[in-house]
Parts: sequence; structure tokens; C-alpha cells
Amino acid sequence: MPAYEYLCNSCAKRFEKRQKMSDAALLECPACGGPVKRLISGGAGAITKGTSHQHADAMPPCASGGACCGGGGCDPGMFSKN
Ligand SMILES: [Zn+2]
Repeated sequence: MPAYEYLCNSCAKRFEKRQKMSDAALLECPACGGPVKRLISGGAGAITKGTSHQHADAMPPCASGGACCGGGGCDPGMFSKN
């Protein structure tokens, strides 16, 4: 499930929300109730599908909610050897 990044137009709070692509975008800031806009996700590995283990040293490849480690798609031991 991808994480979308939002920016509040009212209080400038920036936050991420995990939701399905089919879910409607958030309209209200959870902090102040002001209008928010959804940012185009580009960094922080929010959407890393298809990029293999490029950021394996920074974070597990399954941080976005995938099940590859549990399913044997990657080696969890590689993180403890570094
Ligand atoms: Zn706000």
C-alpha cells in the first residue's frame, strides 16, 4: 500500500497517509482541519516498488508494507551483517 504525502495549506503540517490507490485523497488536515493538498511522492522511499534492494542499507525493502521478507523474497540476515 503506497504512502501519500500531504501538506496542509493552513498550518503547513506535512504528513504521510498510507492508503489504497483507489481511496479518495484526504481533504482535511488531521491537526487543524484545514485544507490539504497531496504532494507528488518522490523521495523517502514512499513508493519503491520495482527498485529492488537499492536502499537496503538505509531501511528494509519491505518498509512500505510488502511481505517479501516473510515470503522469502529477501534475506533478513543481510541487515545484521553490516
Ligand atoms: Zn493543518
